Amino acid sequence: MPARYIARLAYFVLLIGLVAGITAPAAGQDVDGAAPAAAADGPNVRLAIHGGAGTIRPENMTDAQEAAYRAALEEALRAGYEVLRNGGSATDAVIAAIVPMEDSPLFNAGHGSVFTAEETVEMDASIMEGARRNAGAVAGVMRTKNPIRLARLVMDESPHVMLAREGAEAFAEAYDLEFRDNTYFHTERRLEALRNAQSDASTTDADTSPAYLGTVGAVALDANGTLAAATSTGGMTNKKFGRIGDSPIIGAGTYADNRSCAVSSTGHGEYFIRAAIAYDVCAMVRYTGLSLAEAANAVIHGTLTEMGATGGLIAMDPQGRVAMPFNTPGMYRGVINADGSVQIDIFRD
Ligand code: ASP
Repeated sequence: MPARYIARLAYFVLLIGLVAGITAPAAGQDVDGAAPAAAADGPNVRLAIHGGAGTIRPENMTDAQEAAYRAALEEALRAGYEVLRNGGSATDAVIAAIVPMEDSPLFNAGHGSVFTAEETVEMDASIMEGARRNAGAVAGVMRTKNPIRLARLVMDESPHVMLAREGAEAFAEAYDLEFRDNTYFHTERRLEALRNAQSDASTTDADTSPAYLGTVGAVALDANGTLAAATSTGGMTNKKFGRIGDSPIIGAGTYADNRSCAVSSTGHGEYFIRAAIAYDVCAMVRYTGLSLAEAANAVIHGTLTEMGATGGLIAMDPQGRVAMPFNTPGMYRGVINADGSVQIDIFRD
């Protein structure tokens, strides 16, 4: 047998082992492998969102808080769905879903972003569309009200994929975007989280405590069969000035390819970068023939967990199947189907 076949066979056996090793069904798996509900009279479209993964437990949340998150997630789903239902692109839909979450103080993106160790807010965002594999990203922006809109302008209007900090915002000035003083992004709740992280840091090792929660992301399939993915975040509480996470890194936080899937990640970004998490899900689907659910589970419950890291992702394939695995106690997440029906979940079960 030629060496390349042996190598291919060995890779396949390895993958099957990896998937089989993830005892089914893993906790927090939350995979919907079923075909999406079709609209009676509309296009076969679908959109999924996340609002971050982490130590989200029912006992830590009041009914009022849970209701507020559910309402915000539903608002985002319906905003994205409105675009898809009217024949809009997956790219427009993921932006429409993310903007209200960036404007909400509940999520760690835009207005509700977490603080750096210097008590400033620095935001990262990225977007990718799956037909031409076009992508745009911004890192460390401090004045742009909706960083996801700026990422989209980088994709559409610049020859680049990623712009950072003052350069990104100088580029933004030429467009009709809203800007805010950095204090617009400062909220009491996040300041308190920073203080807690800093006092924990004096007793433990700050660099190993994953103080993240609330990053937002969306994946969508439009009526033309095109996928798109987008992610927006303030990063991790108490991060160093200039730290850039996985969210603006194409292949780590965000990836979309019509030949395989669209992915948006959330979790301890350094690990997501090192494992190229979003790309890895799509590569497994494309090269091995694993289903979306199998590939997404292998990456979160295999690769990420074995690295000792936490987080989750949402993924969608060209048939509109969705996978939303996470290895944390919870992940804010939701799906809206072609018929407008919505499913929103927060906790593991
Ligand atoms: N992944 C993000 C980061 O590391 C944080 C998050 O997902 O909450 O910047």
